[in-house]
Amino acid sequence: MTASSVTPASLTVERLAGDIVAARISVPGHRQNVMTEAFLGELGQLLDSLERQPPRGLLLASGRPGSFLAGADIDRLDRLWDCSDTAIRDLCDRGRQLLARLSAAAWPSVAVIDGDCVGGGLELALACDFRVATSSPATSLATPEVKLGLLPGWGGTVRLPRLIGPGPASELVVTGEPVTGSRALTLGLVDACVDPAVAVPTAIQLLEWANADGRHYARRQRQAATVPLEDAEREFLEATTAALILSRTGGHYPAPLKALETLLRGCAVPAAEAAVIESDSFARLAQTPVARQLLRVFRLRQRNRRDSGLTKAGAGLAAEPVAVAAPAVIGAGIMGAGIVARHLRSGFTTTLVDIDAEALARTVPEILDEAAWDRERGAADPARSHALAGRLLPATSLAAAAAADLVIESVIERTDLKRRVLAEIEATVPASTIICTNTSTNPIATLAEPLTDPSRFCGMHFFNPVRRMMLVEVVRGPATSDATVATVVAHAKRLGKCPVVVQDSPGFLVNRVLSPYLHEAVELLREGIDPARIDKLSRRFGMPLGPLELYDMVGLDTAFYAGVVMASAFGDRIDASPLIPALVKAGRLGRKTGRGFYRYRGVGPDARLETVDDALVKTLEPYRLPERSATDAELTDRLFLPMLLEGLRLLEERVVRDGRDIDLAVIYALGFPAFRGGLLAWGNSLGAAEILRRVERFADLGPRMIPPGSLIDHARSGRPLAQPA
Ligand code: NAD
Repeated sequence: MTASSVTPASLTVERLAGDIVAARISVPGHRQNVMTEAFLGELGQLLDSLERQPPRGLLLASGRPGSFLAGADIDRLDRLWDCSDTAIRDLCDRGRQLLARLSAAAWPSVAVIDGDCVGGGLELALACDFRVATSSPATSLATPEVKLGLLPGWGGTVRLPRLIGPGPASELVVTGEPVTGSRALTLGLVDACVDPAVAVPTAIQLLEWANADGRHYARRQRQAATVPLEDAEREFLEATTAALILSRTGGHYPAPLKALETLLRGCAVPAAEAAVIESDSFARLAQTPVARQLLRVFRLRQRNRRDSGLTKAGAGLAAEPVAVAAPAVIGAGIMGAGIVARHLRSGFTTTLVDIDAEALARTVPEILDEAAWDRERGAADPARSHALAGRLLPATSLAAAAAADLVIESVIERTDLKRRVLAEIEATVPASTIICTNTSTNPIATLAEPLTDPSRFCGMHFFNPVRRMMLVEVVRGPATSDATVATVVAHAKRLGKCPVVVQDSPGFLVNRVLSPYLHEAVELLREGIDPARIDKLSRRFGMPLGPLELYDMVGLDTAFYAGVVMASAFGDRIDASPLIPALVKAGRLGRKTGRGFYRYRGVGPDARLETVDDALVKTLEPYRLPERSATDAELTDRLFLPMLLEGLRLLEERVVRDGRDIDLAVIYALGFPAFRGGLLAWGNSLGAAEILRRVERFADLGPRMIPPGSLIDHARSGRPLAQPA
């Protein structure tokens, strides 16, 4: 092997034996390899030099373990807003032309895919003649552009259907979901899926075979042609996929449908024409407000990954996070089980303590199933479950947690019990151990009282179901130290969660903004608005569930308790509605009893919603309020404006450090529509003056509709309600 040349920063090039050129990608200044201007420039220079001195093959691989190429540099995408339609098309065309040089080269090419191969990274790999994926669990191939409100713009919608067929290609492009190396092999997306140790030799072998029999030429011809697709087949694909998209997106996200339409139109024409269709669609999507909001949310998530959880002034040497090695969870209920499963999935050996041996025995197999869940097979992977069993340490005595360096208390929500358990935990673990509580409603200050050292104590509030809900509220008590916050924030990130630091205040962040929304829904019901209409309007706004459906899901008894906590803190504007205890008294606790605001067939989370029943109307009767005339738009405002006003109050009271945390939190904990960019971003799209005007119409409803001072300031100054990411 002889090293012939070393090109700058992003690509390291060497000539291997047999005159194969290996180019390894390692983009400086980024955690993962991304397609920066510099990288693309170097790729162009490499192709120039290979055209001058053709090799017998090009092997593209990563010089950085676990990251082949994670798509476009997001800063470049951000600049799209300032571009004209033509400039965006040009950008697509230039990228595609670069990749086309690779596909049309005099020599065959192969991509060795280890780690993330995403977006533009996958489009680069698709431009090669062959692809070898590794079987590493970190290897993942995806076209996630729809999640940013876009579609693949460098030939992805053109090359994919020609390689793997229009059905599987549509699925990849429309869902944006990743596939592993082995699934990619089944789809025909890669030519081999092998152990990382043999990936390069396998790739070289493919190049040698191609040189011997010219097999890559047939592929290139297929890539240039139309895709054989019967009319009936196309219509079927179009109808079924479009129906699925609409059911999942409620029609709020234009990108998946546009991607489907683009891909299918592109199948009917030669690749060169399909490319023009693709650029055109990309340019249209790139200028939609939805894409703009989704990109902002993406950047908020990136910002969250960098956030230590501390304000700059507070951060010092003492606030360096400590890597947790031996976590323990106390309480094996719904939440404790979910938290432990998440820890196992993230590679932690985890202790789980519950005083109820039977509950533990019941829960352990469920935890292992969840931790070993394999999305592609739609079931737990038995081998993985078996391996994880050794990492789950169940026990009925707290003594089992004696060596833990982080303990998460998740026993039932009873203040006295929690205080006792927390004191016992403190007496059991070393002085350096961090202690967290998953309480939903107890003030951290109250729970900290029995502790000798409350500086190492804070809230770590997960959301239900833990496997799906990304948000974790890290709640600072009055005595919580910076070091504790920094460690818990870092730990939440290692669990793949999105931690947001909040001050100890009733309802923290999420329940605080949720309460006025839920309360308003009940008030509307009392005014005689049909419950189905209330929920429909909320879903039309983009929420995954309506507020009354959410009540039934959470359980009216739990909601009642949370409502009491909120009412005692903010009773002037967040009343505890008398209807909720009446429903609880009538045994209507929601899905778990088969009846709540709605009637269900069966009980539990899978119960099927049947109808609104007459008994609800009777229970409601004594609590009726005078009717008001209300249009759909007014009802939607009634539901969401109080939520927004509460978000602004949270900021005024400095319960949250930054408004961007509110936007991220409502998306990741409540399913607030990402296409609206979050609560404050939605407010921003209305403008402070317009919000004031709308709120004014509801002034007779009392203190809950009084605008906070900051809103009036925003209206006066014109300062935006939401910051850019
Ligand atoms: P749960 O009733 O399902 O489980 C509680 C578990 O704690 C039970 O298995 C019980 O045996 C165990 N337990 C009781 N006393 C114990 C002790 N002294 N030592 C060890 N274990 C003990 O409750 P959950 O729904 O999992 O809630 C747990 C915590 O999470 C609560 O503080 C709750 O407010 C909070 N939370 C719940 C949700 C939710 O939606 N369920 C969401 C966020 C936070």
